Amino acid sequence: MARYIDAVCRLCRRQGEKLFLKGPKCVTEKCPATKRPFAPGQHGHSGKRRKLSNYGLQLKEKQKVKRIYGVLEKQFRKYFKIASKTKGVTGKVLLQLLERRLDNVVFRMGLGLSRSQARQIVRHNLIVVNSRRVNIPSFLVDVADVVQIKAKDKALNKIKENLELSKDRTVPSWLEFKPTEFSAKVLRLPEKDDIQQTIQEQLIVELYSK
Ligand code: SF4
Repeated sequence: MARYIDAVCRLCRRQGEKLFLKGPKCVTEKCPATKRPFAPGQHGHSGKRRKLSNYGLQLKEKQKVKRIYGVLEKQFRKYFKIASKTKGVTGKVLLQLLERRLDNVVFRMGLGLSRSQARQIVRHNLIVVNSRRVNIPSFLVDVADVVQIKAKDKALNKIKENLELSKDRTVPSWLEFKPTEFSAKVLRLPEKDDIQQTIQEQLIVELYSK
């Protein structure tokens, strides 16, 4: 599957805000978005950011959410299509779909330091959902599902290390996390308040509804 492979910190600088794509580095003074708070490239240093039109703002918000969750356009559109056909508020359902992705759950549990690392953990066959191995990062968890790590030796030590490094991160209340068992049960579907970053999902709905 195609993935963004360029330096992810450029995405934050382009976005004009921290997207927290690199784990612990994001909260240190080494964060490039803090050290160089202007857009990357030759003209970024001018310090001026263009005033965006309404369309520009909608596009920017969509890019931001795609970058946070590491989802490409095709899949993001697919999520929007599902959300718009689902009963309920489209923007809220869209965010729920993104949060319910297995790679996001592994990240929110603290087993991966970033969503991209969590995706690798899933891809490497280290996760079971309801006692069955699942290696698809886009797998959507549902209420009552139990997500658990099943790893040995080196991989398990790495996960333990990650857990230690992310111990200051709060596991959202829609997940009942048991660190000693490396498992989490989905208690309910995620709400907007459970999402760490500020997202104006209405802008995305407006963009795709044109
Ligand atoms: Fe963004 Fe994190 Fe890189 Fe800072 S360190 S620019 S928050 S990805």
